Amino acid sequence: MMMEQTSEIMEPDIETPENEWRIRVADIKQYAYCPRVVFYEYCLPGVRPLTYKMQHGLEAQSRVEELEKRRSLREYRLTEGVRHFHVALTSERLGCTALIDLVVESSDGSQRRLTPVDFKMSRREPGRHFRLQLACYGLMLEEVWGAPAPEGVLYLIPLKRPVHIKLDKQLRKEAEQTLAEIRKMVLGEHMPAPTPHRNRCVDCEFRRFCNDVI
Ligand code: SF4
Repeated sequence: MMMEQTSEIMEPDIETPENEWRIRVADIKQYAYCPRVVFYEYCLPGVRPLTYKMQHGLEAQSRVEELEKRRSLREYRLTEGVRHFHVALTSERLGCTALIDLVVESSDGSQRRLTPVDFKMSRREPGRHFRLQLACYGLMLEEVWGAPAPEGVLYLIPLKRPVHIKLDKQLRKEAEQTLAEIRKMVLGEHMPAPTPHRNRCVDCEFRRFCNDVI
């Protein structure tokens, strides 16, 4: 894929995934929060309601994307590049799919460079699970778009702050291990232990299925 100059906005680049079962990379953060949430989502499909919090997150994200079209690429430490919104990817190697909020395609000398950007409705310093998700995006972009993705950005919407994350070897390895764990859990239909952080169960929409935490 050739990169054009300037910060031109590109139309969404949607690819259609095939009909095989694959892990959604967005589930990595849920898995870190509580593995059971992911188990229920795959093994009891269709039971999760859209909560107010989720709806609010979606609306805020859509507003940010509108503003993003006017934002300078300097926030991503880039002077020029092309923005691709809602990039859908399928990795045959990792057996997963992803819908990335934004990919900035730029140039590092003669080398193309890809920067995945994930918008978050959070004021906190991003946890490990957000970083693992971003590392997966980097791995998938490298496989499918064929250019290095050495760094990603988690954009904290309420703070209007980009957090730059190095997608190093260790983070990539952990991301691949997490995908393998999820695959094993779902294919084996092994219900995992509940999260040890029981405060997370208080307003969990799957609480009615977890009789052992009440
Ligand atoms: S109720 Fe608790 S253990 Fe059960 S899925 Fe929700 S967070 Fe996990």
